[in-house]
Amino acid sequence: MTASVATDAALLDEIRQAIRKICADYPGTYWQELDRNRAYPTDFVHALTQSGWLAALIPEEYGGSGLSMEAATIILEEIHACGCNAAACHAQMYTMGTVMRHGSDEQKQKYLPQIAQGKMRLQAFGVTEPSSGTDTLSLKTTAKKTENGWRINGQKIWTSRAEYSDLMLLLARTTPRDQVEKRTDGLSVFLLEMKDLVGNGITIRPIRTMINHATTEVFFDDVDIPHDALIGDEGQGFSYILSGMNAERILIAAECIGDAKWFLDTASRYANDRHIFGGPIGRNQGVQFPLAKAYAHMMAAELMVQKAARLYDSASAHGIEANTAKMLAADASWEAGETCLQTHGGFGFAEEYDVERKFRETRLYQVAPISTNLILSFLAEKGLGLPRSYGK
Ligand SMILES: Cc1cc2nc3c(=O)[nH]c(=O)nc-3n(C[C@H](O)[C@H](O)[C@H](O)COP(=O)(O)OP(=O)(O)OC[C@H]3O[C@@H](n4cnc5c(N)ncnc54)[C@H](O)[C@@H]3O)c2cc1C
Repeated sequence: MTASVATDAALLDEIRQAIRKICADYPGTYWQELDRNRAYPTDFVHALTQSGWLAALIPEEYGGSGLSMEAATIILEEIHACGCNAAACHAQMYTMGTVMRHGSDEQKQKYLPQIAQGKMRLQAFGVTEPSSGTDTLSLKTTAKKTENGWRINGQKIWTSRAEYSDLMLLLARTTPRDQVEKRTDGLSVFLLEMKDLVGNGITIRPIRTMINHATTEVFFDDVDIPHDALIGDEGQGFSYILSGMNAERILIAAECIGDAKWFLDTASRYANDRHIFGGPIGRNQGVQFPLAKAYAHMMAAELMVQKAARLYDSASAHGIEANTAKMLAADASWEAGETCLQTHGGFGFAEEYDVERKFRETRLYQVAPISTNLILSFLAEKGLGLPRSYGK
């Protein structure tokens, strides 16, 4: 039997209540306006930061609240279940994990307390590149040793929140791919202080997308950073990034569960209220069965998210569960979103109902932070022992 640690139910309930209270100040109209203008939810992020929720996973010794992963999933789930969107700041919760696990004592002392207090934002994560995509080991951005540190050249894409972050965690190649022994060697992680670098080698270009996500392209042109920007050992960056990705997957899965709950709640209310042909549309099995099915799938996915979070908290192996949770939760939220939109008929397309916005937002999770196909490949290989279907 695998060990797992459950967080006290009363604490989880307290968290839900506290998050609901904050989210009540940010109704659909707030998000609609931001969405229309593709604007950053500064007030909402400020409220979450001030109340300390974004520092949930930072240990108390560094000024965070040292909560469990399970508690963190409840924070993000509840934000999404309230109709809000944590994508503008969720990375502040988990990106620091790489510094926490692999940074030196000096780096931890320097950054973690400031991140915990909300004085510094670490929510930009530069991994994906235009020509390598999911094939991270093929990335082309380089960091070359100089007398005073490292010089970065290259380009990242989909670096979300780069304009709203003081720090960026960057994965770059420090040894050419044909000179490493192991295919996963030769990549290193750096923590960049953005303030002095933007406009001084770093150029950030926003990408307008179908959702309001503050995502960008980032160009690095002879960007000089100091020696101590390197996190952990040179050449080991890929494993450091991987170790943080499971946390990201569990937390994003929780957001999907929150979305699914919002869709199901919204759709059920509408199906009861909307009277057509002399009764509520929800009495028709053609309307209620798809909702009931989406509800069942959401509950099953929720259990998997909980299992993955508890395994994470007990420091047990959790790669299979984290990936499964992400896939099932993303599927559950997409199914619930599709059903919610269909239940609303034409009104589902009207901005003021928030359904179309949430529908667009939750679609992302079929693709990012990892696409469903790549999860299936991982499960086939690691769970079932089938041959790897990609990469050399
Ligand atoms: C809004 C948004 C925000 C993002 N934020 C960040 C961020 O902050 N930081 C960051 O680093 N990245 C970020 N990403 C990038 C995201 O992680 C990638 O888009 C995602 O991992 C997919 O990579 P790709 O877009 O290059 O697709 P590709 O890797 O080109 O894949 C395209 C399609 O082909 C499929 N495919 C590829 N290879 C295989 C295979 N071997 N077998 C089967 N199917 C395959 C994929 O499933 C996918 O559907 C973001 C993306 C978006 C859209």
